[in-house]
Amino acid sequence: MSRQFFVGGNFKMNPNTVAEKRALTDLLNQAHLDPSVGRSRDWVDASWADSSDIIRPEIKVAAQNCYFKDSGAFTGEISPLQLKDAGIPYVILGHSERRTLFHETSEVVALKTKAALAASLSVILCIGETLEQRETGQTTKVCSEQLQAVVDVLTEADWSKIVIAYEPVWAIGTGKVATSKQAQDTHADVRAFLSKAVSPAVAQSTRIIYGGSVNKGNCKELCAYNSLIKEMRSVILIHSAYDVAVQPDVDGFLVGGASLKPEFVDIINSTL
Ligand code: PEP
Repeated sequence: MSRQFFVGGNFKMNPNTVAEKRALTDLLNQAHLDPSVGRSRDWVDASWADSSDIIRPEIKVAAQNCYFKDSGAFTGEISPLQLKDAGIPYVILGHSERRTLFHETSEVVALKTKAALAASLSVILCIGETLEQRETGQTTKVCSEQLQAVVDVLTEADWSKIVIAYEPVWAIGTGKVATSKQAQDTHADVRAFLSKAVSPAVAQSTRIIYGGSVNKGNCKELCAYNSLIKEMRSVILIHSAYDVAVQPDVDGFLVGGASLKPEFVDIINSTL
């Protein structure tokens, strides 16, 4: 099964001024994007609740968090229904900065995911291990546990609106990108987990994107398989005719720092 390539930009708490925001929006609006963006593939910019009306229509806007209640006395929170009503179709949940700095547990992330789906939002669900966990061989266990909390509260049908972002904590904002093999191996493990915990069909159809110091220089190698598929339109040919490293389970990227720079356009176009 082919999965649509997906690139998300996580602008975090940036940029600082309206003028900088305008410049970034202009850059994206004027960029030459892969013609399949918005048709056969998704692109999401995760930052501004008021961006939908100033960004080109093939780019969708995402929020970076939401609460798990629809309304009420929860000062400082935003509800999935409020996002939906504002025309925001996506929300990022479970980012490691939320888990670490704001003490969100996997159970809270699961509640938020369920609430977001109930409001018809799509979810970019972030998971990933710390350096210590990787070095002690716990990567698969940690990712599985983070996902299990979500599996526990969802139905099989819910997974059609989830994109999983595998973001090793040690690679986020550090300039230390995972190797294409590390990314591929972990994505394959996550897919194997989904197959067992949810269903083989969900495992095959769910996009698993990589995040952590993706930039213009490393994006092509990280998604080499997708580029080849596009070029050759045949998985069989790729395996038989090319002796190259391919990452069949890397379905796109979630990009932090580089999404604020012109090179983000190169990353969006990385399969061109
Ligand atoms: C992120 O914060 O989701 C991220 C991937 O950041 P960076 O690309 O800067 O590592």
